[in-house]
Amino acid sequence: MSVNLQTPIVYLKGVGPNRAETLQSELGIQTFQDLLNLFPNRYIDKTQYYKIGQLQRSNADVQVVGKIIHIKTVEQKKGKRLVASFVDETGEMELVWFRSQKWIRENLKINEPYVVFGKCNWFNGKFSMPHPEMELLKDHQAGLKIAMQPIYPSTEKLGNKGITNRVISKLLQHLFLETKGMFLETLSPKLLHELNLLPKNKALFNIHFPKNQDLLAKAQFRLKFEELFYIQLQLISKKMSRKQKIKGLNFDQVGDLFNDFYQNHLPFELTNAQKNVIKEIRADLGSNAQMNRLLQGDVGSGKTIVAVMTMLLAIDNGFQACLMAPTEILANQHYNGIKELLKGTDITCALLTGSIKKSARKPIHEQLENGELQILIGTHALLEDKVQFNNLGLAIVDEQHRFGVAQRSKLWHKGSTTTGEIRGAIPPHVLVMTATPIPRTLAMSLYGDLDISVIDELPPGRKPIKTVHRFDSNRLKVFRFIRDEIKKGRQIYIVYPLIQESEALDYKDLMDGYESIVRDFPLPDYQISIVHGKMKPADKDYEMERFVKGETQIMVATTVIEVGVNVPNASVMIIESAERFGLSQLHQLRGRVGRGADQSFCILMTGHKLSSEAKTRLETMVKTNDGFEIAEVDLKLRGPGDLMGTQQSGILNLKIADIVKDNAILKSARYYAIQILKDDPMLEKPENRAIRHAYTQLLKHKNIWNYIS
Ligand code: ADP
Ligand code: MG
Repeated sequence: MSVNLQTPIVYLKGVGPNRAETLQSELGIQTFQDLLNLFPNRYIDKTQYYKIGQLQRSNADVQVVGKIIHIKTVEQKKGKRLVASFVDETGEMELVWFRSQKWIRENLKINEPYVVFGKCNWFNGKFSMPHPEMELLKDHQAGLKIAMQPIYPSTEKLGNKGITNRVISKLLQHLFLETKGMFLETLSPKLLHELNLLPKNKALFNIHFPKNQDLLAKAQFRLKFEELFYIQLQLISKKMSRKQKIKGLNFDQVGDLFNDFYQNHLPFELTNAQKNVIKEIRADLGSNAQMNRLLQGDVGSGKTIVAVMTMLLAIDNGFQACLMAPTEILANQHYNGIKELLKGTDITCALLTGSIKKSARKPIHEQLENGELQILIGTHALLEDKVQFNNLGLAIVDEQHRFGVAQRSKLWHKGSTTTGEIRGAIPPHVLVMTATPIPRTLAMSLYGDLDISVIDELPPGRKPIKTVHRFDSNRLKVFRFIRDEIKKGRQIYIVYPLIQESEALDYKDLMDGYESIVRDFPLPDYQISIVHGKMKPADKDYEMERFVKGETQIMVATTVIEVGVNVPNASVMIIESAERFGLSQLHQLRGRVGRGADQSFCILMTGHKLSSEAKTRLETMVKTNDGFEIAEVDLKLRGPGDLMGTQQSGILNLKIADIVKDNAILKSARYYAIQILKDDPMLEKPENRAIRHAYTQLLKHKNIWNYIS
């Protein structure tokens, strides 16, 4: 092949320096390869030609053959428009231009057959097609036959610079001519055969110039598979080499602390799911490789006890452990809960958060460094440079989605000594816990390099939470219900949205709501707590404490209570303006109740005006308690980028595959990537030569790896 795909795009016929610059700035196209990998967003079926007399008032793109019999310029209030009368044997329509009129007027040929293509408007009793794509019939017939018209991504600037869809299609024709349409195969013969995939050449040809629906579908399948396959190949090989290269601390003892706790202090029988996860963790810890495990478990599934038992394994082997939580309230709660669990043991445990006084920190720092302190629980404060461990063997991060990847990796280096050198260069084991159920599909793509454990079973005896949707107009009934529940000794959460952009307004809503609740639930019969983001941490904790102790019956709060708070006696969660919350947030909030033996309720309050998306969210909440099911709906509604926050939104940069819709292809790509790497970790076997070559090229040119950090 004479032309290299890494050739700068400026050398392609039809591309000069100007176009090259626009292609680069607008579409990131620098090389032949980049253009080849510019896949169409959609296709228009151009196998049909319509007669003017057949046109319907729909907004479909149509293709019509006819002649221009007359052109005129029409003055209008804002500028002029150019109007051509276009006819065939069945009728007349108009072609209209608002821009580039001079050029068009000079170039259009009267009385010659054209094929025009575009959307038709119904205007002044006639069909009119603004800015049609046009081609002389004789060129159209001579050109490469395009049965299905690909529509490429476009931008306003591309359009202004005349790089229309048709131009891009033309450039691709040149590219195929110059390269003779010969591209290196990037998958192995075995994969092509087993999955009945189109060869690379044929797939690329049909993605740009599909001959028919069937070949298009096959081309798409092949290219989606390829894209996902190489992502998985990278993630999995990263994971494999991490396991080989990054030595882990070997916790080979299941010692006295763990055994004693298991036999004498466990407050309940572990669920099978919890037992399995502990088994998986134990296997990691004894494998000589560093553990990097994501523990997913719905709210209330009992992740804390798993964390505690993992810490015991670390301590049994002579190491320290730490647990980092995203908020002070949560860190406090963990600290208190874990201290309670460890009551009968003489394990040393301390709490470190932003509001711990300097004087109290000093001994913590000292005891950490000399090794007296075995467990440290806290917030981001753990990441401060002053915090140095004697021998950190295990770092646990709760509610992972609140922390960035950078923070997670900072914990790794906490195994270092005060002088900054990494002790034995062996990083601590890392366990990341999240209650945001990440759909497996997404977890596989985002965390493909982590091992994943799932607690998919709730502790026994839990009654599923009853969820209902109520309109604001039914508030009185809801208040009556609250009163009845309080009479039974239960506690109530009432949550208001607090979203940054409209903070002042939200704050007012919250305070108004609070006042009206105070009016309806007056002292001394009712005690009410309030917690919101503008309060000092100490005041928040005080109010929270009162609620935890049962001194107050109602907790009015913003979403600060979203994560992790555990008050088993609270049985009603009322969410105000529920339409403003995302699904995963609603699910997290609901998870604050249903923790005790009583029947719990979640009431979603909204006004009557609801978007269809909001309706779907509410219906989903009412229908199911299953966090994974909810996460799947959320993913479909919002797309993966939003779901994970901006950090991971890079995943949207997939060129052809769609994480949600192509779930099945992703699974298959992952399966084959694992099989191949298991059998041939370095891709040295002759049968994997094509894969090895493509993989090295991809890593070298990085053009599809941009979305992997
Ligand atoms: P989360 O996974 O949301 O962090 P927690 O660890 O806070 O859940 O556990 C929720 C509640 O369930 C706690 O009160 C805990 O004591 C209790 N719990 C956990 N595991 C079990 C179990 N196997 N049997 C009974 N109760 C359990
Ligand atoms: Mg928790």
